[in-house]
Amino acid sequence: MSYRYFSYFIILTSGLLLSAVQSPSQASNVIGTETVSLKALTLRIAGDETRTRMVVNFDKEPEITSFMMSAPYRLVVEMPESGFGFDESAISMHGLIDQVRYGKVGDGKSRMIFTLKGPFKVENIQVAKNESSSGYRLMVDVVAISDREFALAIAAQSDADSSVEKHDIDTAPVSKSSEFVVVIDAGHGGIDSGASGVSGTLEKDVTLSFAEILRDLLQNEEGYKVFMTREDDSFLRLGERVRIARQHEADLFISVHADTIRQRDIRGATVYTISDQASDAVARAMAERENKSDALAGYEIDEAPEVADILLDLTRRETHNFSLGFAEKVVDSLRDEIFLINNPHRFAGFQVLKAPDVPSVLLELGYLSNKQDEKLITDPVWREKMAQKLILAIKAFAKKKNQ
Ligand SMILES: [Zn+2]
Repeated sequence: MSYRYFSYFIILTSGLLLSAVQSPSQASNVIGTETVSLKALTLRIAGDETRTRMVVNFDKEPEITSFMMSAPYRLVVEMPESGFGFDESAISMHGLIDQVRYGKVGDGKSRMIFTLKGPFKVENIQVAKNESSSGYRLMVDVVAISDREFALAIAAQSDADSSVEKHDIDTAPVSKSSEFVVVIDAGHGGIDSGASGVSGTLEKDVTLSFAEILRDLLQNEEGYKVFMTREDDSFLRLGERVRIARQHEADLFISVHADTIRQRDIRGATVYTISDQASDAVARAMAERENKSDALAGYEIDEAPEVADILLDLTRRETHNFSLGFAEKVVDSLRDEIFLINNPHRFAGFQVLKAPDVPSVLLELGYLSNKQDEKLITDPVWREKMAQKLILAIKAFAKKKNQ
């Protein structure tokens, strides 16, 4: 069976059979006259956009196989025919998981299909006996990776499985692109409008407009590849913005903002880099407010992921030096034509700058609480000048980084 046909088959069969098993009242162990011996009792999903764990409790020990599928990103977990004692609509999605479907697929088998927000790898999958209660649990840990790594993993999976026809697999890019990849993050969006200006300008609108100008101009430059975290008025969690940067193996991540500040006479652009300790009170307050974005939009804060902190720190050190270097280049480039705040390179604990492997800065275009700044930030001529100056800094940074 060809790969594509195979995926079509799964969607069809799972779709058709879901209604038969998805509600608790119908999820009896008896399907037809045949008794199903296995039953999945509960499903729990926890984690964030970097790392997510799924735990399924079974009444008996299930024999599990799993494989990944692309477009959309899916993890398929196959088991002997099983009943499902939980309601699909009641499962709360977390972290990388977008959707879960499950049902019988024929040949005495059932499947759970997890649809993920981005490329992933299965770091751990195991069945263990419950210590405190009866039954067994299946634990699956998935972690976010780049599109390139995912394509390699899919190719390796099909190499291992001779039943998959090779010509149906998209050609995997084996090495990182020689183009310099920039991910532009338009701050806020959707339910989170961000700050609002003295004349009613919404931060989420100006960040997107500026991000579009920057993207369009940078795309015209040879050797640059540009991605946006959002291209419309939609809400994105902070962790999702970071995940997108890593998905594209970005060489640079620029988060664009235009906040407000209590002192209305303060104005000018600021470049922020990440730090555990804020450079000053303004920076600290700014990071605290930005980090509340998820909570303000009504999302619960995810549990802290279990990560190898030491490794993360090591990767982060080199990345952090790059972030500092880029911030300095931005300040140098803007200085002569763009009004800057005093001490224009500041730092604080911005969550959106936390990618361990992507140099990241947060750019405050100016303050919407200041009339003059608001006027400039909404002026297409000023925006283009600002974008051009930023591109000069990006080019200088790319040249140095590639040396
Ligand atoms: Zn903001």
